[in-house]
Amino acid sequence: MADLIVLGAGAAGLSAAHFARKAGLKVEIFEASAHPGGRMQTTREKGFTVEHGPLGWLDGEEALEEICADLHLNIIRSKVADTHRYIQHAGKLFPLPQGPAAFATSKLLNWKEKLRFLSEPMADLPADGAKETVRDFANRRFGNGFEKKIVRPLIAGLFAAKSKEISMPAMFPGIIAAEAKHGSLTKSYRRWAMEAAVPICTVAGGLGTLAHALAATHGDLCHVDSPVDTALFEEGWWYIFHQGTQLARARKLLVALPPSAMAMVLRDYLGELRKSVDELAAPNLVSVSMAFSKSNVQDACAGFGYMADRKHRSPLLSVQFMHAIFPDSAPNDQVLLRCMLGGTPAPDFGKNSDSECLERTLQEIEPALGIKGIPTASWVTKHAGGVPVYRPGHHSLVRKLSDKLAHYENLSFAGDAFFGIGLNAAFAHGKKWGATLPSPA
Ligand SMILES: Cc1cc2nc3c(=O)[nH]c(=O)nc-3n(C[C@H](O)[C@H](O)[C@H](O)COP(=O)(O)OP(=O)(O)OC[C@H]3O[C@@H](n4cnc5c(N)ncnc54)[C@H](O)[C@@H]3O)c2cc1C
Repeated sequence: MADLIVLGAGAAGLSAAHFARKAGLKVEIFEASAHPGGRMQTTREKGFTVEHGPLGWLDGEEALEEICADLHLNIIRSKVADTHRYIQHAGKLFPLPQGPAAFATSKLLNWKEKLRFLSEPMADLPADGAKETVRDFANRRFGNGFEKKIVRPLIAGLFAAKSKEISMPAMFPGIIAAEAKHGSLTKSYRRWAMEAAVPICTVAGGLGTLAHALAATHGDLCHVDSPVDTALFEEGWWYIFHQGTQLARARKLLVALPPSAMAMVLRDYLGELRKSVDELAAPNLVSVSMAFSKSNVQDACAGFGYMADRKHRSPLLSVQFMHAIFPDSAPNDQVLLRCMLGGTPAPDFGKNSDSECLERTLQEIEPALGIKGIPTASWVTKHAGGVPVYRPGHHSLVRKLSDKLAHYENLSFAGDAFFGIGLNAAFAHGKKWGATLPSPA
């Protein structure tokens, strides 16, 4: 019998399971879909490595370095840092400025917007910082033009969300801390930009390979095609069920599920918080990858990619130049573009058929990149839950949830709906949680 049951084999569940196993626990994992990895899913065909979900993690994450060493997987670092992006404005692509001096000379901002940007050190502090959205924050410190032309596309491109709905302190605690400490952000912007300019990492074969390698370390104790709908706690044991059939029991339970699945599985324990957890469900996000012969694309497509203009309410959020980021992901004569569409800026986009998604994506990127002809290959993936949106009040909800579930012995939860978005946060959380585990008796 296992010491620990983990529900969900996404990044959060696999990371926690790995570090629990290293701490000496016998771990059993239950995953609803046919493959481990959750949103980490990779297709390898026709010489392409296509990432349907995350494309990599930011270099320097200890938990991932340890896991890759444990699994004998070589880390591949991107050729370009993720700050080397373009911002689309009025149809054209402008380099994302890398510091205050670059903002002052960028053609993206007009002279009034530049003056307002440069007055940032004089900005007031917020009346109630806990409730401030990213849009309010950017307007207050940098001005309206900067918010519209730079912050809006960045937030849509990075988090598939609108700047007016995201909580600044929940999403960017480091920036809030720097504001409190230094009073000005432009003074430390260059240092941040340099710190942020780190490579993105993956492993040979892509993130699907990492997920499968992690799952394989648990042998037949990692069950795929095994959804769970109920967890029950009785006399020191956690029992898990699907449609009334008991699947397993263990002393410890870690729930690393999307919020709606967690709300269902723990319905008897969440009380009045069940609805709030359910509402954390991430909006739909569509990933469209397309390959073209290099000779059919005018733009050099060098750098990380671009954030789409938000002005015309386009469903396109961002485009990543995968062949430039990881050159091995495409044959030499091909350009591989990964396009993100939907999220809260265009929540219904995922209702389109795959061919409609392809057609609309092409319409959006053709003029920006000077594309001629049709793709040599294409892939469409619809994520029912894309990237969670941390709205104002997020921290306090997670605190309430932690307090509520702390009443039940040996119950933990994880996942990007709660503890930070992205692979760095998911894997770091698993390592930190693993370090709190006592060795089994
Ligand atoms: C298109 C896209 C691009 C992204 N790009 C990046 C990027 O480049 N870099 C980055 O760091 N992050 C990126 N992210 C975010 C990142 O993918 C997530 O933050 C991270 O993968 C979340 O992992 P998780 O384990 O919390 O959730 P998930 O990966 O969703 O895992 C939850 C698991 O639970 C399973 N499950 C659901 N219901 C049940 C049930 N009833 N019983 C059992 N199992 C169940 C699911 O099948 C899934 O495997 C991206 C996300 C998307 C969608």
